[in-house]
Amino acid sequence: DYMKVSEIRKKFLDYFKSKEHFVDKSYSLVPENDKSLLLINAGMAPLKNYFMGIETPPSKRMATCQKCMRTGDIENVGKTARHATFFEMLGNFSFGDYFKKEAIEWAWEFTTKELGLNEEELWVTVYEEDDEAFEIWENHIKVPKEKIVRLGKDDNFWEIGTGTGPCGPCSEIYIDRGKGFGCDDPNCKPGCDCDRFLEFWNLVFTQFDKDESGNYNLLPNPNIDTGMGLERIACIMQGVESIFDIDTMKNLINKVAQMSNQEYGKDNKKDISMRVIADHARAVTFLISDGVIPSNEGRGYVIRRLIRRAIRHGKLLGMEDMFLWKLVDTVVENYKDAYEELTEKQEYIEKILKIEEEKFEETLDQGITILNGYIERYKNENKMILNGDEAFKLYDTYGFPLELTLEILIENGMTVDEEGFKNAMKSQRERARAARNEKGVEGWKNDMSGLELSVQTTIFNGYDTLYENTQI
Ligand code: ATP
Ligand code: MG
Ligand code: MG
Ligand code: MG
Repeated sequence: DYMKVSEIRKKFLDYFKSKEHFVDKSYSLVPENDKSLLLINAGMAPLKNYFMGIETPPSKRMATCQKCMRTGDIENVGKTARHATFFEMLGNFSFGDYFKKEAIEWAWEFTTKELGLNEEELWVTVYEEDDEAFEIWENHIKVPKEKIVRLGKDDNFWEIGTGTGPCGPCSEIYIDRGKGFGCDDPNCKPGCDCDRFLEFWNLVFTQFDKDESGNYNLLPNPNIDTGMGLERIACIMQGVESIFDIDTMKNLINKVAQMSNQEYGKDNKKDISMRVIADHARAVTFLISDGVIPSNEGRGYVIRRLIRRAIRHGKLLGMEDMFLWKLVDTVVENYKDAYEELTEKQEYIEKILKIEEEKFEETLDQGITILNGYIERYKNENKMILNGDEAFKLYDTYGFPLELTLEILIENGMTVDEEGFKNAMKSQRERARAARNEKGVEGWKNDMSGLELSVQTTIFNGYDTLYENTQI
């Protein structure tokens, strides 16, 4: 008997309602009037104008459960216990109202009293220069000082890339899940990249306004922005190993296992594939329900990559037929109470996925033809290693996954220059980043590195117009 995702969500919002917060619905994953962000990546992102003082909030205290996407975490998905691309972020916000003391007190009270987590297992971090937060944790909350870790700017200072504007130190809450969570470091503690100390709540104290010359000026009315990953806290509350074992995600994993005729928990590689599919199926369902459709640019490209990745992992599990669209039903079943839009859009989402799955089958065929051409040429030249640029071209232009390229090469007694591939990918990213910066587009938290935005291809243009002209 454990607390379900839906119960935790409600408990959080009710708690902050009792602290006089205005509880708002989740905003769309697609940012409104905000060119700086591709997809909403945190609870505060849609509230940015309230933080900047550009718009007046409906209340000085707000709380939400916000749909978020972090494509920058895509490589971690399925491998760590704690990363998803799509996830829900619980957050409470103060716009020039309460500050550090209340934010910390309430986070602690919610964690230890409402959720009943054992204080002994909790650790916190503060920004290395934030003595004020350290003092509150130590003397007011009474966390033993050995369990208050000071972390540097990378972890615990929040600001908009190189830009100006509101910024400030963070303080995080972690749970120690004990040894056996895969870390060899005897001094493992919060900030370590393993899954033993699980970060679940981040409190941001937006107390500065960074000016053009890089000075951090104290804001007269500082803000609070907190974010707690719902999947992570559910993972803790349900006493399970990873966010893929919580009630809502487990249903998806079970469906994937059943469809692919695999047993979850038997083979690590296959488990990763199952988790990737579950994650991506959930993400694309929410993305499409918020109006994103596959294309070669921006958000459309993000979703296309997610769909292809999922299909590729389906192939690794031996699934030959289209399957992704069949998972929509499970996602809707698990999330329709919290997100009404899913029910009405279900059929539409399934239709978009079916079309995209079919298209990908075609591009897979095209990619194979191109690759066979390369192989023939290389063989004639007595070369055995496909160069990185060509492997990257297959990946980038034809949506052809590197693992598949490698698999086929191996069948032909060849291999691929993976270093060269990575370099090609890196320079492509740098070009894309430069192009973004030129356009003044940058992420609030550098979270868009995993999937590139402006990949230009010629091959898919026909599909894009097809989507735009198809009445679905
Ligand atoms: P991590 O260090 O584990 O990658 P983070 O420091 O990047 O997390 P924050 O930016 O502080 O995360 O986001 C606030 C909270 O949102 C985190 O404490 C966590 O609970 C949750 N969260 C962040 N990224 C993810 C993700 N990819 N999947 C699920 N939950 C996430
Ligand atoms: Mg992160
Ligand atoms: Mg972190
Ligand atoms: Mg954090």
